[in-house]
Amino acid sequence: MISEKPILNIGLIGTGFMGKTHVFGFATADRVFDMPFKINLHSVADQSIELAETAASALGFQKATDDWHNLVSDPVIDVIDITAPNSFHKDMAIEAIKAGKHVYCEKPLAPSSQDAEEMVMAAKSAGITTQVGFNYLCNPMMSLARQMINQGSLGEILSYRGIHAEDYMVNFEEIFSWRHEEEGGGVLADLGSHALATAEYLLGPITSVFGDCITVIKERKDISGDLVPIKVDDISRCFVKFSNGVSGSIEANWLATGCKMKHDFEIYGTEGALSFSQERFNELWFYSKADENGKRGFKRIEAGPEHYPYNRFCVAPGHQLGFNDLKAIEINGFVEAIAKRSPGIFSFEKGLHIQNLVELVRHSSNLKSWLTL
Ligand code: NAD
Repeated sequence: MISEKPILNIGLIGTGFMGKTHVFGFATADRVFDMPFKINLHSVADQSIELAETAASALGFQKATDDWHNLVSDPVIDVIDITAPNSFHKDMAIEAIKAGKHVYCEKPLAPSSQDAEEMVMAAKSAGITTQVGFNYLCNPMMSLARQMINQGSLGEILSYRGIHAEDYMVNFEEIFSWRHEEEGGGVLADLGSHALATAEYLLGPITSVFGDCITVIKERKDISGDLVPIKVDDISRCFVKFSNGVSGSIEANWLATGCKMKHDFEIYGTEGALSFSQERFNELWFYSKADENGKRGFKRIEAGPEHYPYNRFCVAPGHQLGFNDLKAIEINGFVEAIAKRSPGIFSFEKGLHIQNLVELVRHSSNLKSWLTL
């Protein structure tokens, strides 16, 4: 029988890496979850009509435009999905909110806390649903880790180590891109926003930080071959204190040769420990002091149907979820929130909070002192 669910028309802005991932996420979520709406990939915008039309035809949108304002002003579109570079997020989101659309925006929410704050205020007064793309938090093994921490499987938590390291900027010849612009925010905003969100997801609010943000590659060539000075960080580290008294360290690094997706954490408690790597994100490693002496060691817990919503994707354990599936889980949360007219699972408020932490780390690095949020 044909679905009689109401239609949710999606208008996607940007068709690069994340644009495609969002489309796969919408398409999968529509089939895997029993969502309250039927997804319709309505319109897509990119900076040129060639890019937009190519993406529309490859990804299955009905309409294409080279002007994102056309999506926002189209009364048929329900959701504006922003996967354009960070410097566009605020204008696109606020205009969409004013037009009464629900807004799904990639992280970091905005280049500055001030911009993010304006986005939050606009969303609050409009009563629409917002969501920011913190997809790593949608991993069922991440929920399991949080559940084990909260249930006391690790005893009292003693310390935290988090890192998000990749190597996509390690090549000195890598051309200057929007990620190197000040509005791109450097590695701290690009990858550190994920690492900070994960730390807080697992252990609760971070209250103070001591940051150290470093620019290693001081200039890069632009597409014309001219050297452009780099003003953003390549490696950012910070010591953190959580509101529960736990201390830890977090690193964001896009010069980490050999690391492709090291969004990892280690958590040490009085009774046990957890270790996780995003490069093998269907696994969580657990060490328990309750195991027999002489037979202790980190044991591998493998994702399976008992770790909701893995079962929605696959009936068999060990067959593994993929990166795009995390987006599908994120989108399911967003669409459910739209139906309930509630904030998204990671709403603009969360995006603002993470941006506040990013700025606190940067400010602390400049001042070379601890700062409290
Ligand atoms: P990208 O450069 O691959 O894609 C950006 C897209 O936006 C391109 O298609 C570009 O042509 C388009 N664009 C640029 N200006 C535009 C305009 N004025 N109007 C319409 N389209 C325009 O970048 P990306 O890696 O996809 O990153 C996009 C966003 O996603 C960033 O905010 C980034 O931080 C975020 N991101 C999130 C994750 C994640 O895991 N959640 C991963 C990568 C990137």
